[in-house]
Amino acid sequence: MKQFQYVRPAEAEAAVNALVKDPGARFVAGGTNLLDLMKRGVEAPDRLVDINRLPLKEIRKEKQEFHIGALALNSAVAEHRDIREGLPLLSQALLAGASAQLRNMATVGGNLLQRTRCPYFYDTAMPCNKRVPGSGCGALKGFNRMHAIFGASEHCIAVNPSDMNVALAALDATVHLSGPKGRRSIPVQDFHRLPGDHPEQDTVIEKNELITGVSIPRSPLKHVHYLKVRDRNSYAFALVSVAAALDLDGKLIRGARLAMGGVAHKPWRLTEAENFLIGKEISASSFQEASNLAMRGARAYEHNEFKLRLAPRSIVHALSIASGLVKA
Ligand code: SF4
Repeated sequence: MKQFQYVRPAEAEAAVNALVKDPGARFVAGGTNLLDLMKRGVEAPDRLVDINRLPLKEIRKEKQEFHIGALALNSAVAEHRDIREGLPLLSQALLAGASAQLRNMATVGGNLLQRTRCPYFYDTAMPCNKRVPGSGCGALKGFNRMHAIFGASEHCIAVNPSDMNVALAALDATVHLSGPKGRRSIPVQDFHRLPGDHPEQDTVIEKNELITGVSIPRSPLKHVHYLKVRDRNSYAFALVSVAAALDLDGKLIRGARLAMGGVAHKPWRLTEAENFLIGKEISASSFQEASNLAMRGARAYEHNEFKLRLAPRSIVHALSIASGLVKA
């Protein structure tokens, strides 16, 4: 691994300035993704700016929303009483991710920024437009079982690996940033990008910007389920995941939010299916119809054709559990 310098500022402004002064510097918090990338030679920063001393760990319930600091640990958020009671979908999604040890290190900000787990991205002997723009995509004609069925481009078919991001998309979260030009806030749905012609850019975060936290509106959608389908029951990334949240009046669906993971370069919100469900009664047939709408435009590659069947079944199952139609 390339040698690097290490600094540990105590204020956000100093942390941002450290990056402004050194184009080869990177922020580090839990390091659960970045250090892997450095060990494999995918990332080679000159300087690590450790942000763990910044006061960004709070988890706060306010009148209209929850606020979670960027340095709140995934385990602390998942187990926080207010989050478990008020945002159970987020708690479920976090507990479905990684392992207990990783959740004890990984932060909310880092989770928002974690990079794809496409194996070609991590193998520096292989072409990868995300790692080296213009070098090609090893996965397009390679082994692409884990890859996207929505929103891919000819330059990249990778998926966002996060469970938390899927729940945040369904919950209409907002990401807060601070940088040399000041502060700004972005809906999480607009924070992650599709690959297009620039797969090297996972998000719209600008150079030298720091994630300070996320806010999530309090929601009447109390019937929730996060379903994660994976090759083994722990410490595995999603083949397909579904975050489902419903507002029910008896059997009547008053509100619906749905997002999928493991299927696109960003958390994939299912707006058409949500709109279809509003005003319907909970039933296997309405959930099936919603899943059919959600799958419009899906496209498989050589090894992930199974996702075209797995994804709609997962949507139906997540909605069935969230609504109480079937037991988990
Ligand atoms: Fe790289 Fe994306 Fe292709 Fe994977 S899918 S090899 S991350 S360009």
